[in-house]
Amino acid sequence: MSADRYAERRLRTLEAAETAGLGGILVAAGPDLTYLTAYTPPPLERLTLLVLSTGADPTLVMPTLERPLAESAAGAPGLTMLDWRDGGDDPYGIVAAMLGSRRYAVTDRTWASHLLALQRAAPGRSFVAASEAVPLLRAVKDADEIQRLRAVANGADAAFADVIELPFAGRSETDVAAELDRLLRDHGHQRVDFTIVGSGPNAASGHHEPGERRIEPGDAVVMDFGGMRDDYCSDITRTVFVGEPSREEREVYAIVRAAQQAAFEAVRPGVAAEEVDRAARAVITEAGYGERFVHRTGHGIGLEIHEPPYIVEGNRTPLEAGMTFSDEPGIYLEGRFGVRIEDQVAVTAQGAERLNDASRELTVVT
Ligand code: ZN
Ligand code: ZN
Ligand code: ZN
Repeated sequence: MSADRYAERRLRTLEAAETAGLGGILVAAGPDLTYLTAYTPPPLERLTLLVLSTGADPTLVMPTLERPLAESAAGAPGLTMLDWRDGGDDPYGIVAAMLGSRRYAVTDRTWASHLLALQRAAPGRSFVAASEAVPLLRAVKDADEIQRLRAVANGADAAFADVIELPFAGRSETDVAAELDRLLRDHGHQRVDFTIVGSGPNAASGHHEPGERRIEPGDAVVMDFGGMRDDYCSDITRTVFVGEPSREEREVYAIVRAAQQAAFEAVRPGVAAEEVDRAARAVITEAGYGERFVHRTGHGIGLEIHEPPYIVEGNRTPLEAGMTFSDEPGIYLEGRFGVRIEDQVAVTAQGAERLNDASRELTVVT
C-alpha cells in the first residue's frame, strides 16, 4: 500500500481525535501503529510512540537503534523521525515537550509503565483511552483490507475442509488442535492464534482449551480457530458430529444455523450493531434456548481478532459499509453438547457479504 494511504489514515485519525475534543492521539506499539505507519516495532520497555497532535507534523519517537527499521516502513514517508539514545535522552520528556494541548487519547496497548512515566513528565495533561475517544478508528476497512481479510478467511476455510476429511473418533482434542494448527499454516497463515477443539460435554464451553479427552462416536465437536496472514486475522467456528447426530442435536444445529443466517440478513448500513445481535437472539429465544446463548453475537475483526464494532445489546453504533465482524451465535447445553457457527462478514453498500465460504451444512465426520 502506498505511503499516501498511511498519511491519509493519520490525518483522519487526528481529525477524529479533534472531533472528540482532544489535542491529538499518542500511538504506542501495537495494531494502531501498524495501521498508521506500517511499522511494527517490538513491544518493549523502550518507548516507541507516534504523536499526532494539532498543528504539529506527525512525529514518530523511537529508540536510536530502531530508527533504520522505522525508516524502512511503507508508511514512513511524511513522518518526522525523532530518535532517543539510551543512557541520556529522556523519551518521555521529548514527547511531553511536543504536547500543545491539555488532553490526548492514548492507544489501548500502551504499556502502563510508559503512560505513568508520561504522566510524570507532562503534569497538567490528561489522557483518555483511544477505545473510548475514537473507538471506530480502524472499524471501516478499505478494499485492500477486505481483500486481506477474505484471503486469510479463505485459508481458515481450507483448513476446515481438510480437517473434516480426517477421522475424529479415537483422537484427542489436542491432536485435532495440532492438526488445525498445521493446516492453517499450510493454507497461508503466518501465525496461528488459537485452535479451540471442544468435544462432547466440552463443546458446551465457549472458550474451552483443548485437552486430552478422546473424541468418541456420538460427540459434537466445536472447532474455533484462527490466526494471521499479512497482518489481518481469521476466526472461524464450525461444529461437526462424529457419526449420526441425535434428533436433538440436529434440531439445535438447525436453530443455530438459522440464527446465524438471521443475523447475516439483518446486516446493512445504518442498522445499529445491537440489531444484528437481536436478530440472532430472537431465533434462539423463540426456539426456547434463549438462556443457552450466553455471549454476544460477534466482534469486529481486522488487525486484531477482537476489535470494534462489538455486536452486542446496547451498542447503538450504526453499521457502515466496510465494517467487518463475526456472526457467531451458539447454544450450549451444559454437560452435554454445544453448537456454534461463526463466519466473518463485511458490510456492503446494500447489505452484507460473508468473508468465509466453508460449508455451514450439518457435517458428519468419522
Ligand atoms: Zn473469542
Ligand atoms: Zn472464533
Ligand atoms: Zn470470533
